[in-house]
Amino acid sequence: MPRNIQNTTYISVALPLPVQRLFIYSIANAPSDNIVGRRILVPFGKRSLTGIIVAAGEEAESEFEVRKAIEILDDAPIFNQKLLEFTKWTADYYFASWGETLKAALPQGMTPRDVLRIKVMPVVTDEMIFEMAKKAPKRAAVLQELKKHTGDVTIGYLEKKIKNASIAEQIYTLERAKLILCERTIEGEARPKTRKAVAINEETLSTQEQFREALDILDKKAPKQALALSHIYLYHRRNHGEPIAIADIVQELKISEQAIVQLAAKGYLRISTREVIRSEVIGNSRLAERDESTLALSAEQEHAARKISESITSNKHKTFLLHGVTGSGKTLVYFHAIKQAMSVGKNTLLLLPEISLTPQLTDRFRAAFGDNIAVLHSRISAGERFDQWRQIAAGKIKIVIGARSAIFAPIERLGLIIVDEEHEPSYKQESPAPRYNARDCAIVRGGMESAVVVLGSATPSMESIYNASTGKYHLLKISSRADDAKMPEIRIINMQEERKRKFILKSFSQDLLDAIALRISKKEGVILFHNRRGFSSLLECDDCGAISKCTNCSVTLTYHKTARQLRCHYCGFARIAPNACEVCGGMTMREIGAGTQRIEEELAQLLEMRGLKAQIARLDADTTAKRGSHRAILHDFASGKTDILVGTQMVAKGLDFNRVTLVGVMNADLQLFMPDFRASERTFQLLTQVAGRAGRSGDYRGEVLIQTSHPDHQAILAAVSGRYDHFYGDELQLRKEAYYPPFTRFVTVEFSGSSEEKVHEQALKFAYYLPKNQSLLILGPTVPTIWRLRSQYRRFLIIKNIKHADPAGEQLRHALRSTYGNYQQNAAVSTVRVNIDIDSFGGL
Ligand code: ADP
Ligand code: ZN
Repeated sequence: MPRNIQNTTYISVALPLPVQRLFIYSIANAPSDNIVGRRILVPFGKRSLTGIIVAAGEEAESEFEVRKAIEILDDAPIFNQKLLEFTKWTADYYFASWGETLKAALPQGMTPRDVLRIKVMPVVTDEMIFEMAKKAPKRAAVLQELKKHTGDVTIGYLEKKIKNASIAEQIYTLERAKLILCERTIEGEARPKTRKAVAINEETLSTQEQFREALDILDKKAPKQALALSHIYLYHRRNHGEPIAIADIVQELKISEQAIVQLAAKGYLRISTREVIRSEVIGNSRLAERDESTLALSAEQEHAARKISESITSNKHKTFLLHGVTGSGKTLVYFHAIKQAMSVGKNTLLLLPEISLTPQLTDRFRAAFGDNIAVLHSRISAGERFDQWRQIAAGKIKIVIGARSAIFAPIERLGLIIVDEEHEPSYKQESPAPRYNARDCAIVRGGMESAVVVLGSATPSMESIYNASTGKYHLLKISSRADDAKMPEIRIINMQEERKRKFILKSFSQDLLDAIALRISKKEGVILFHNRRGFSSLLECDDCGAISKCTNCSVTLTYHKTARQLRCHYCGFARIAPNACEVCGGMTMREIGAGTQRIEEELAQLLEMRGLKAQIARLDADTTAKRGSHRAILHDFASGKTDILVGTQMVAKGLDFNRVTLVGVMNADLQLFMPDFRASERTFQLLTQVAGRAGRSGDYRGEVLIQTSHPDHQAILAAVSGRYDHFYGDELQLRKEAYYPPFTRFVTVEFSGSSEEKVHEQALKFAYYLPKNQSLLILGPTVPTIWRLRSQYRRFLIIKNIKHADPAGEQLRHALRSTYGNYQQNAAVSTVRVNIDIDSFGGL
C-alpha cells in the first residue's frame, strides 16, 4: 500500500463491534475540514458497516492492509468534539467499545448497513436438493427454503427460517456455484422528507403590472390557474418570497396539481423542493392545557429555583439533588430553571424515565414552552427521530426531552441537564452494550460541558442520598405539597389477619372494596396498583402444586386467559394450557398470582354484586401496545369517563390528576422478596410514588390503602409514615455492612452458553485471572435465579469494588482490562458469551 499519496487521507473509524479498537481506512479526495465526527460507510469482511470517523491524518500506521472507505454519509459532523469525548468516556467506563457507544447514541435509521438479498436460480431442481442433502444438509436446507419464494429474501430471514444463525459460508459456496443469486443493497437509512413547493418567478412577475397582466390573460381561459396564481402571489408578498408547498395549495383551493404545473410551464412560477420536518401528532388528546410556568412559586420552590438559576448564570458545573415530596411541584422548579437557561442563551436536556409512558408530563412542558421542544422517544417513527436529531444538531431546539438514550443528543450550548425521577431503574441500559446509567452519565456530561445538573425525585436513590450527605451533590428540599394540597392519609391492611377473619373477597379486602364503593358514589377517581404485568397469572395443579415451566428458560410460564395459552415473558415461547396436570394427572388446575386483567375482572364482578356500576380501565403493557392508546386511556380517566384505573407500574409514574382521591395497592409484597439487594429500596419507592397520585389538589384529601402480608417490614412502614430519613439511615447501614452500593461499585460478569458445564468452567477461568486485591471482593460463580434463559445456561461472577479503597475506580478498570485480555488470549471459547456490567442493577 503506497503511503503519502496526495489527496489520500487516513482515518480512524469506530465501528459498532464488540472489540476495543479502532479501524484504519483510506479515502481519496476527502473534504479538507471537519471530517471527524461524520458517519462513514466502510467495507468490513464481506459486509459493509456504518462507523464514525474519530480521527484523520495523512499517515497511517497499520499492520493490516488499509482498505478504501466506501462513502462519507454526512455533509457536516454529526458528533461534535465534546460529544466524541463524552461517548469515549462512556465506552471506557462501562467497558464497551467506542463504536458500540456511538451507535447507541445515534437514532435508529442513521446506521445504514448492507442487506444481502438472495434468490434461487431456476436450474436448481428438487432432485438436486435431495442429492445435496446427503453431503451438505445445511446448503440443501437453504435451497429448500429459497424454493418456497418467488422473489428474493434476506439472509436474516433465511437464518431464522432454517434455525441456524451462521449460514454465510453456505451462501458464499452456493453463490460461487451459481445456484443462487445475491444482491447487496444498502438499507435502513432514514432520509430527509421533502415536498414540492413553488414560488413566484421574479424574473417574469416582478411588478404589480406584470402580475395584473398575467391574471387578465388567465382569467378568461384558465380561471383555476388565475385563482392559484393570486393565492401564491399573496403568500409570496406576505412571507418575503418563501416557497409554498404545492400540496397545501391543492388542498386549500381544491384545485388540481396540474393547474400549478402549468403555471410553472408558463414561466410564472419556480418549482423547488423543500424539507418538511416530521413531527409527532398529538391530536386533540392533550393531557395538559394550562401554562404552569407563570404560577407564583412557594417559598421552598422559590429557594430551589434561585439556587439552580444562580449556578446556571455562573456557568459552573454543579449537581443538585432536588428532593421534593410527591406533588411538591418539582416540575415548576424545572420550568423556572429552564427559563433561566434560555435567558442566558443556554439549552436544556430533560431526561425522563420511559418517556412514552409519561405523555402527561411532556404535554405540560409543551403547554409551557410550545415549539422550543423536541421530544425523543421510541414510539415515534425513525423518520421523525431522524428529523429531530438533525434539528437539535443544527441548534434549532432549546429543550430536548427524552429517555435514557437522549443523554447522547447533540445539543449545543448545553447549560442544564435535568434527570427527573432519578431513582428509576429504567435509566440503566441492561442490554446491549454499552450498559450505561444515563443518570450517572448526566453528571459526567454536565462536568464536560460546564452544565448544571438537577436530579429530581420524591424518593431519591440510595446513591444520591449518600452523595448529598457527603456534599458531592447540593441538596434542595421541598417538604410540603404545592397549592394547599395535603399529603394523603396512608393505611395498611394486614391481609393475613383479614384472611383469618374471612374478610377477603378474591384479591380484595373488605376495607378496600368499601373505600372504592364510596369514591364511585362521589364520582371521584380511583387508581389500583398491581405490580404484575398484563394478564399474567400462573397455572398450578391443586393436587401436587406443580407449575408449568418454560422449556428454554428456568422461569414459570404465565397464563393468558383469553387465548388459553401458557407463555414465557422472556423468550416468547407459547403453548396451549393443559386441562390436566402434566406431572400427576390431577384434573384441577388453579389460577394463582392474579395479574392486572384478573384484578379488573374480579373488581367488575364484586362491584356488580353490590349493585354498583363503574367504568374500569386497565393500563399496562398489553393495553398500551398500540400507538396513542396510552394517551386515550389517560384522557378518559382525566375527564371522568372512566372511574377506576387498574394498572402496573405505569400508574405510579408521574400522573397528576386532581380527581384521584383513592389509591389502592393490591399487593405490596410482590417487589419485596425479589432476589435483589435493592428490593427494599424499590418497594419503598414504588409505594411512595403510587401513593403520591392521591389527593394532589387542595380541594380533596387523598386516601391510600396498602394490602400486605408483611405490615411490619421497614420499607412498607417508611412509605406509610413518610419518615424517609429513618428508612434511608437504616438501609445505608445495611448496605455498608454487606458491601453494597453506594459503598461499592457492583459489577456483574455474566457467562452464558448452551452447555452448563462449559459455562461454569469459563466463569471459573475468568475468576482465576482476576487479581487478588484489597479493593475487590469477588463472589461466585453463582447460579442466578433465572439460571437458564432463551436456552442458554447462565453463571455470574460478582465483583464488589470498595470505593474508599479505590475512589476513582482505577484499580477496578485495570483489573478488568487485564483479566479480560488474559481470558481472551488464553481461555475464551466461542460457545460461551461474556458480558460485563459495571454498576449493575442485578439481573440475578
Ligand atoms: P411533583 O412533580 O413534585 O410531584 P408537580 O410539579 O406535578 O409535582 O406539581 C403538582 C401539582 O401542583 C401540579 O398540578 C402543579 O401545577 C401544582 N403546583 C405546583 N406548584 C404550584 C404553585 N406554586 N402554585 C400553584 N400550583 C402549583
Ligand atoms: Zn422462555
